[in-house]
Amino acid sequence: MYDYLIVGAGLYGAVFAHEAKKAGKSVLVIDKRPNIAGNVYTEKVEGINVHKYGAHIFHTNNKKVWSYITQFAEFNRFTNSPVANYHGELYSLPFNMYTFNKMWGVVTPEEAAAKIEEQRKDAGITEPKNLEEQAISLVGTDIYEKLIKGYTEKQWGRPCTELPSFIIKRLPVRLTFDNNYFNALYQGIPVGGYTKMVANLLDGIEVRLNEDYLAKKAEYDVMADKVIYTGAIDAYFDYKLGTLEYRSVRFENETLDKPNFQGNAAVNYTDVETPWTRIIEHKWFEFGKDEDGNDLPKTVISREYSSEWKPGDEPYYPVNDEKNGQLYAQYRELAEKENKVIFGGRLGEYKYYDMDAVIASALDMCEKELA
Ligand SMILES: Cc1cc2nc3c(=O)[nH]c(=O)nc-3n(C[C@H](O)[C@H](O)[C@H](O)COP(=O)(O)OP(=O)(O)OC[C@H]3O[C@@H](n4cnc5c(N)ncnc54)[C@H](O)[C@@H]3O)c2cc1C
Repeated sequence: MYDYLIVGAGLYGAVFAHEAKKAGKSVLVIDKRPNIAGNVYTEKVEGINVHKYGAHIFHTNNKKVWSYITQFAEFNRFTNSPVANYHGELYSLPFNMYTFNKMWGVVTPEEAAAKIEEQRKDAGITEPKNLEEQAISLVGTDIYEKLIKGYTEKQWGRPCTELPSFIIKRLPVRLTFDNNYFNALYQGIPVGGYTKMVANLLDGIEVRLNEDYLAKKAEYDVMADKVIYTGAIDAYFDYKLGTLEYRSVRFENETLDKPNFQGNAAVNYTDVETPWTRIIEHKWFEFGKDEDGNDLPKTVISREYSSEWKPGDEPYYPVNDEKNGQLYAQYRELAEKENKVIFGGRLGEYKYYDMDAVIASALDMCEKELA
């Protein structure tokens, strides 16, 4: 018998497991995958930590979360400065003075602000009816055409004229040369990879991999007083009310026999013709070096393709529309009646959580549950 059975060795499950053990509880963690760390899993290929389920950059303003997670990993100084590639023209992201200088040749912040204002006025859109009109009314035609249109259409699989305007509420424009994408006080990549960080959280805890809780639910339920379930909430109830939808991403990984492919961790392809949305070159999350500071001779890249999700695919981004929101609320009601089970994390709560938010959420649950 265990005090807690934790289903899922992702960040939520690992944080809960660590805190429960610290509080003197007996804990068993299971995961249906062959590895720990859930979606932040990193796998070593040619000495490079490859982010298997998509690039993960840790960033937070939450000092409590930062103090917590840095007990389990040292973080490097990586800051996210993506580059946009529009038919071979390269631009800085987020939109800043480098972007505006390249786009229009403007030199001062006043000139850049005037150019944006001129383009917005020329468009003459007062009541945007779709995402295209909304974006043009915020930043004008040039930035929209070169840096927003193609990328957004690939991401959503639909023309911007058919997407609702509310998807883009604001488009941050920086009249400075600041290339740091996230406005976060604390950020970086754990030295040695995320898998090592999660292994440190799970140190001394019994973990069983390749174990699907739902396939042996009755057997597992008698093993613990309580279950922390971080799998999909609709799967838990055998989809009896219907299936919650996701947006998915397909990754095509390639190992190249050269030290440098694109000179940056992330390059977004913002034209509509290139089929992938971006290319990640994993070694640049760690400055192209291994843990001993040696240069790595090869490189690993991942092309990302945004895709429609169908049952059986890896679920990535919850679809925040009314239909899915209502269905989740119905599942939530059922979940509240499961006295022995706590539903948590991105799949258990059908919610997009950044890593810092999922850690904060797990720590909140620990405070309630383990007090
Ligand atoms: C493409 C992508 C990029 C992202 N990039 C960033 C980023 O740059 N920065 C950032 O802060 N956040 C990022 N995130 C968010 C981050 O991935 C999440 O915050 C985090 O992974 C959530 O952890 P979790 O424990 O809730 O879920 P997960 O990591 O999904 O863990 C859940 C675990 O439960 C297991 N499981 C499910 N069902 C069962 C079952 N029946 N039996 C046994 N085990 C089961 C799964 O195998 C999985 O290991 C990104 C997310 C995506 C999709």
